[in-house]
Amino acid sequence: MHIGAHVSTSGGLKNAIEGGTSIGAEAIQIFPSAPLQWKIRGWDDKQCSWFKDEWPKHFKQVIFHGIYLTNLAASDESNLLKTKNALVETLRLAQKIGVVGTIFHPGSYVNGEIGNHNQVKNVIYEILAETPSESKLIFENSAGSTMGGKLEDLAWLLNSSSDNSRVGVCLDTCHAFAAGYDIKSKDGYEAYISEVERLIGLDKVFCWHLNDSKFELGAKRDRHENIGEGHIGTETFGFVLNDPRWDGLASYLEVPGFEDKGPDKQNIDILKRLRTD
Ligand SMILES: [Zn+2]
Repeated sequence: MHIGAHVSTSGGLKNAIEGGTSIGAEAIQIFPSAPLQWKIRGWDDKQCSWFKDEWPKHFKQVIFHGIYLTNLAASDESNLLKTKNALVETLRLAQKIGVVGTIFHPGSYVNGEIGNHNQVKNVIYEILAETPSESKLIFENSAGSTMGGKLEDLAWLLNSSSDNSRVGVCLDTCHAFAAGYDIKSKDGYEAYISEVERLIGLDKVFCWHLNDSKFELGAKRDRHENIGEGHIGTETFGFVLNDPRWDGLASYLEVPGFEDKGPDKQNIDILKRLRTD
């Protein structure tokens, strides 16, 4: 498994490459644009084609994390349209810079349920129809208060997609734990993966987010912690990294960092020490 991290693109894509290589990341996750703004700004053609040639020299994978505002279950028509446009633009940009696609948070629950089933299905259909076939749309599990907390939600989202080859999931350890899946022990981790296999299929797991959790099991709080400093503890990350079922996949740190400057070499090195092969 490759050990990666979310890095900043502030100052341009060149800085994202430097940010990743300077901490020893084997893969990087980046935002296509400022995550709290609807407009997907991307980069000019020259920068995009430079990056497309350059990143494979440094990393095994580069992936987008979508902006935070998207909500497939938006009840407001204008927010739904903005959600669709942002994801379409992100997937087009992914193809332009030669990266796999985008991970994103599917959206809000309506009274504890996915809600608006037809709407969610239709918007996924439209996004896939209007974007390049090689760009993947990757649903991230949530901490339990938004859509994707239950593995059943992710299964429904995958099954609602017109082109199964283009959709998958990203499993975040912090979110799984916060949503009530006790992955702290080896038995708990194995039980979780059995559920993943039964409901989603192992081949639909496209990548992992490796984050410890600031809050306890089932707290439904999405607060990441440095590896070993949270309630999950160090061991679980070894279970993931050394699980042959994830061979060749990339994992990404989204931790605060030991100096509060985001994912750092220290967190990467902890994971590298846990990886045995
Ligand atoms: Zn995450």
